[in-house]
Amino acid sequence: MSKIITRTRVLLLATAVAGSAVVMKVNAESATADDSAQGAQTAAAATAANPLLAEWSGPHNGTPPFDKVRVADFKPALEAAMAENLAEVDKIAADKSAPNFDNTIAALERAGGTLDRVTTVYSIWSGNMNSPEFQTVQREMAPRLAAFNDKITQNEALFKRIETVYNAPDKKKWTPEQQRLVWLYYTNFVRSGAKLDAASKARVSEINQKLAGLYTNFNQHLLSDENDLFLVLRSEDELAGLPKELRDAAAAAAAAKKQQPGTWVILNTRSSVDPFLTYSGRRDLREKVWRMFVNRGDNGDKNDNNAIITDILQLRAERARLLGFPTHAHWRVSENTMAKSPERAMELMMQVWKPAVARVHEEVADMQALADKENAGIKIEPWDYRFYMEKVRKAKYDLDQNELKPYLQLDKLREGIFWVAGELFNFKFTPAPNIPVYQEDVKVWEVTDKSSGKHIGYWFFDPYARDGKRSGAWMNAYRSQQRLDGKEVTTIVSNNANFVKGKPGEPVLISWDDATTMFHEFGHALHGLNSNVTYPTLAGTAVARDYVEFPSQLLERWLMTPEVLQRFAVHYQTGKPIPQELVEKLKKSATFNQGFATTEYLASALVDMKLHLAGAQKIDPDAFEKQALAELGMPSELVMRHRTPQFGHIFSSDSYSAGYYSYLWTDVIAADAFEAFTEAGGPYDKKVAERLRKYVFSVGNTVDPAEGYRQFRGRDPRVEALMRKRGFPAEESKGGGADKSTATKPATKRNN
Ligand SMILES: [Zn+2]
Repeated sequence: MSKIITRTRVLLLATAVAGSAVVMKVNAESATADDSAQGAQTAAAATAANPLLAEWSGPHNGTPPFDKVRVADFKPALEAAMAENLAEVDKIAADKSAPNFDNTIAALERAGGTLDRVTTVYSIWSGNMNSPEFQTVQREMAPRLAAFNDKITQNEALFKRIETVYNAPDKKKWTPEQQRLVWLYYTNFVRSGAKLDAASKARVSEINQKLAGLYTNFNQHLLSDENDLFLVLRSEDELAGLPKELRDAAAAAAAAKKQQPGTWVILNTRSSVDPFLTYSGRRDLREKVWRMFVNRGDNGDKNDNNAIITDILQLRAERARLLGFPTHAHWRVSENTMAKSPERAMELMMQVWKPAVARVHEEVADMQALADKENAGIKIEPWDYRFYMEKVRKAKYDLDQNELKPYLQLDKLREGIFWVAGELFNFKFTPAPNIPVYQEDVKVWEVTDKSSGKHIGYWFFDPYARDGKRSGAWMNAYRSQQRLDGKEVTTIVSNNANFVKGKPGEPVLISWDDATTMFHEFGHALHGLNSNVTYPTLAGTAVARDYVEFPSQLLERWLMTPEVLQRFAVHYQTGKPIPQELVEKLKKSATFNQGFATTEYLASALVDMKLHLAGAQKIDPDAFEKQALAELGMPSELVMRHRTPQFGHIFSSDSYSAGYYSYLWTDVIAADAFEAFTEAGGPYDKKVAERLRKYVFSVGNTVDPAEGYRQFRGRDPRVEALMRKRGFPAEESKGGGADKSTATKPATKRNN
């Protein structure tokens, strides 16, 4: 049941080249009206035969039965588990005794265990092990899954009981965690339409199902444009400027796309396009690739997403009005977030927007000067930005990103994050080779307390790219920590990435960006592993959308600490630590290119919010985007990080809609929190680390995040630390320590 209310099955994923991440929720929970009819008996009968329905076996409450999964088992398992959960919920709703915390709220927390287990494995197959066979199951189950939530949140008898408990006179006698849990249940039910009349409820449910279909279409269009469109290079001349590893990757891509031998392919994905734009000396080809990429979903053909977006926005606006909110943005950003209102989110974004744009103009001036010096005879255009940016980086800081790679070994850095976890949280990681995995490259570690040896959880690591695995990087909790009824259940978390697997016996070398992403995702894992709560709905990373990236963005900062670099950033051949000279260059270039990174992100975040503040008007996405950017004063030399027709964060599900601002919001908090360490004894200060554990990493959603942060920091977060980190002037800190705290952040930090 916990998943239905808060959807704690949170996937946190970073784009391939970005330091930070997106949080993707997998709304795997669902079923349709006819599922309940099957009842618990069917589920019980199927349990014996279907491994997905069985309790997990093994020590510490078991781990998923990865060695037994067959795709054919998913549909019957989902059907049986949904039926079982609906039967459980019906029983709670039909209880003859007066509603109280235990027989209603705690009972809901106890329910849905089977569905949790099935959807956990289902979501792993969706993200890590996808196949045409699995997609067939997904296509059938997605709409049914979409209706399941409504069926529960629209259960009138159930809501009456929750409401009675919420208004109970003995509320004060509950623990603070219980009070928060009741508030969350009540609020989530009301937000989903529990108080509406029958006709409005039916319409909301209809809209939810229509949206589920539109999201699927949006995604498929985007995938098609990313798979089917690519640029074929046919001569040495067309490879001008590309380093060897990019040529090799392009040759491999050509083979994968079944092109003639002796050709190279630039794929229409960020991890292929960005390096090409950075290094290709062929301006004409850079323009071609850039246009291909920024026009995904916007080509006026069968994969065009504009009409879908118009429909999505109208349905969302209608649903928000039915639910009693002026706009979709007001529905999404309300009491369930830290920002509390879209206006406050807009205020923060606009505060950072102006200095970011001013910095872009400086960056463009530097690039133009360099181009003029070379007699290039050009005016900087968007397809020139990354190319000249790299040249300016070399000229200004004498830093070549490729120099770093030999020091960044995947295995060593993994040891580094373990070591950091030991220093900050007293964790120890021990290989657990006997735990079943779904793919041979996946490895498992048992996490214990360094001092007491107490079991804390398992950490799964799925590092390499392969067919059927989604791009980017993310964290996923297979099971939430909890101690319902005094029974201790530990968590299982995973980190997932898309590193390129090396040859057998050779170390895998990764970029600084990738290393940052590793620390980021591990921050999410530590958030899950530190969880110390009673109720699963409130555990680990099940916190507000605009708070969940705080622990992960914070953890990124430990990569740059001398302790980590000295011990773990060692040369793969000589074993020598990264030279101090190279570290100094990294530090000096810490705020380089932050104008570009911040502006391309913020342009997307601002357009997201404006689209969802626009209400019920019929929106032409291209025209709206153009006008919004003109009003903002978007510099002509760059585009949104995600243009509207390809903005998967906000149109492939509800989860990030009117929520893309979250990365900035949490980076403000993360920057401010890191200064708590630097103001004290440094990044490994034990007292600050203990406060961080106590008030942030261990509390899950048991306290209001703003209150939890205040207890950690002694005050609210301030924006100045972020401005320092990005090298922007902040009014309050002008003339002050403008450069004292930026030194720990590398240039490659990106925010989404
Ligand atoms: Zn993240």
